[in-house]
Amino acid sequence: MSNRIQLFKENTKFDDDLDIINQVWDFLCGNERTENKLSPNLTEEKAWNIIYYLQEYVPIFPDTIERCNDCGNLFDAEAEGGVSDDDERIYCESCIGDHIIIDDNNEETIK
Ligand SMILES: [Zn+2]
Repeated sequence: MSNRIQLFKENTKFDDDLDIINQVWDFLCGNERTENKLSPNLTEEKAWNIIYYLQEYVPIFPDTIERCNDCGNLFDAEAEGGVSDDDERIYCESCIGDHIIIDDNNEETIK
């Protein structure tokens, strides 16, 4: 897992970029892990839109952090998981096994 996000203050609270984005995610959603009373308590969909915006439009966050289309967890796509063959869906390491189909010719397809 990589560390590309530059923090403006010395901080050893975060393990890596995924940890930072997970903290932002928890804050935006009002998840227990942050328990910050300033949380806007957004839906996961709205929270993801903000993180996506900070990846693609104002590129502060690395765009390798993805949201699993199955379980909804965030993960580092450079380190784990995979994309469906039609490029429409992305899965974390825990879920991708449920989407791999091996046909009679031993050809692997990710649905
Ligand atoms: Zn998943």
